[in-house]
Amino acid sequence: SVVNDLPFTARTAAELAEIDRRVLVHPHNHGSQSERITIVRGQGCTVWDAHGVELLDVMGAGNWVAQVGHGRPELADAAARQIRTLEYYTGFDIFANDQSITLAQRLVDLAPDGLDRVFFTNGGSESVETAFKFARLYHHHRGEPDRTWFISRNFAYHGSTFASGTATGFPGIHEGIGPEFPNVARVSTPHPYRAPDISPGRDLTDFLIEELAATIERIGPGNVAAMIGEPVMGGAGILVPPADYWPRVRELLSRHGILLIADEVVTGYGRTGAWYDSADRGMQADLVTVAKGLTSGYAPLGAVLMSDAVAGTITGGDTYLFHGHTYSGHATACAIAHANLDLLEQEKLVDRARTVGEWLHETLAPLAGLPLVGEVRVAGATVGVELVADRETREPLMADWVTRALREKHRVAAREYGNTLVMAPPLIISRAEVERAAEALTDVLRAGAGS
Ligand code: PMP
Repeated sequence: SVVNDLPFTARTAAELAEIDRRVLVHPHNHGSQSERITIVRGQGCTVWDAHGVELLDVMGAGNWVAQVGHGRPELADAAARQIRTLEYYTGFDIFANDQSITLAQRLVDLAPDGLDRVFFTNGGSESVETAFKFARLYHHHRGEPDRTWFISRNFAYHGSTFASGTATGFPGIHEGIGPEFPNVARVSTPHPYRAPDISPGRDLTDFLIEELAATIERIGPGNVAAMIGEPVMGGAGILVPPADYWPRVRELLSRHGILLIADEVVTGYGRTGAWYDSADRGMQADLVTVAKGLTSGYAPLGAVLMSDAVAGTITGGDTYLFHGHTYSGHATACAIAHANLDLLEQEKLVDRARTVGEWLHETLAPLAGLPLVGEVRVAGATVGVELVADRETREPLMADWVTRALREKHRVAAREYGNTLVMAPPLIISRAEVERAAEALTDVLRAGAGS
């Protein structure tokens, strides 16, 4: 049987799976997994696999994107219009295309004060690479070339290229690749539920700030280029830091002339109910990395926003910026980003993310009473349900079986990150769809606890 009536899917589900196993190397995939799920179509919050099975997408195309939902004709039209007009022209040297210029202005207009300039990339990892290079270049041009160190956090996710992968704080990513990007230190995760071993009565932020200060002292304040952090940690399982965490980190870094990079690849453009989440958390970042939500995943595009001080230092005067990608500011990707931002604005989806968050909170808060649930954490249109084998000891319980049961029994596509089940649905999701996902998760966790 042919998969569906779309002309470009002229293969059966079985053929696709067979070719996939034989030829396609999957990103972030476990070699022992032989199962394959081929997604062939999407509309709104629904996607269909190659067998015609319908799934409710509560994970933004499986990867924190799809803010405006699947299959939007407005974005298809914008792409087609731009390709007919000008598909691409380099942004190197004195050249640029009109879409990249107007999009840069638009990103700055939406950004908090102090972020005035934009550099385009192809995605999150490249944005982080770029931000790291810019931070070092900034110090270099200011006569402080020893500032080469970066501070990141355990269980941060910043990408999988060499520098961004080194900054990523998941142990497995560092294995088997030899020497990594040098001069990256990691500090503790601001995770109130799993606070590091601090003495009773001790404030978590106090502990984290002291640890950060000690780390800076150990490296030498004059050797640190920047700290990088997700305002709310996504891959770590939706970790919202204490309210005083970022303001105090910012203050400490400023005292030592250290830059702050906010990694907003997940949080940027609406996910948590803000255009840029870092602004609401008091980060006052010098550089901000973005990607995913910028195009809702309709085209690969990322960017680094930065202060005039940073941009002026690395590009001013006779300074030649020897950094860039063929597709920096790709005209079609930028046109798609414009159309995506149009939809986010017209449909007030950034505010809607907060409403979705209230629905998630309302429908999932009761889960906190179940034996396998340690904590339910909501930040805008994202939720992390952290599973434990034992609520007393908080021993983590891996969540892969939950994702599988949600998909197979309830046709709901979420994702697990270790022991946390995560949902980051399209911002257009309806109340009924949120309820369906919540009922499915409740059912799976109840059944799991009984088994
Ligand atoms: N930063 C963060 C916060 C991310 O979550 C991700 C990817 N999930 C990245 C960077 C890397 O982005 P990409 O996969 O587009 O390279």
